[in-house]
Amino acid sequence: MSPASGSVSAAQLPENDSAAALPRGAEIVRIGHPALRNGTRNVPLDKIATPVIDELIELLRATLEGKGVGLAAPQIAVPLRLFVIEDTEERIQKISKKDREKRERVPFPFEAVINPIWRATSTEITIWPEGCLSIPGFVAEVPRYRAIEVEGFTRDGKAKTWKLTGWPARIFQHEIDHLDGRLYIDCMQPRTLVSTEEFGRGAPGEWLQRLGLD
Ligand SMILES: [Zn+2]
Repeated sequence: MSPASGSVSAAQLPENDSAAALPRGAEIVRIGHPALRNGTRNVPLDKIATPVIDELIELLRATLEGKGVGLAAPQIAVPLRLFVIEDTEERIQKISKKDREKRERVPFPFEAVINPIWRATSTEITIWPEGCLSIPGFVAEVPRYRAIEVEGFTRDGKAKTWKLTGWPARIFQHEIDHLDGRLYIDCMQPRTLVSTEEFGRGAPGEWLQRLGLD
């Protein structure tokens, strides 16, 4: 998930430099790639905490870094039920205090969430703008449950229950939707979809004058 405000530079993909020992990140797939719609399978329990899954988590982390607050495995075309989340104090400081409080946006340390299932713990719905790194250049208002409970596994193989409210609950719902082949545009309020770029000017102003419409 990409933040709905603040600077998003989704176009800045990491450079490919095979000389680096650390993962440099993968290319995020965009809407239209079947991996975003085909769903995922559970990570086999005996694979959690093995090097291959640990390296996948680090690859997701490197791919997400500096771009957004959550990234699910299908977004790098890996059909596994796994996502990473990180919302830093530095990123949160980019939005106004008032907006932070209204959205209940609080820092969330880096974490990998494996094989999650969730349920709402309240009927309360909040509606805020969301973006997605697989749909660059747009945001729209999306209704989400304000409070949820998620069961899954951490990267070291421990079962964990997350009790979440506010923005972290929203990020989890967005990322788990990815694991189920759903995108925010499936549940957005369609008329709120807007470009994050300049909107453009349209016809030169004199046209409106000539048409008697200014
Ligand atoms: Zn997304």
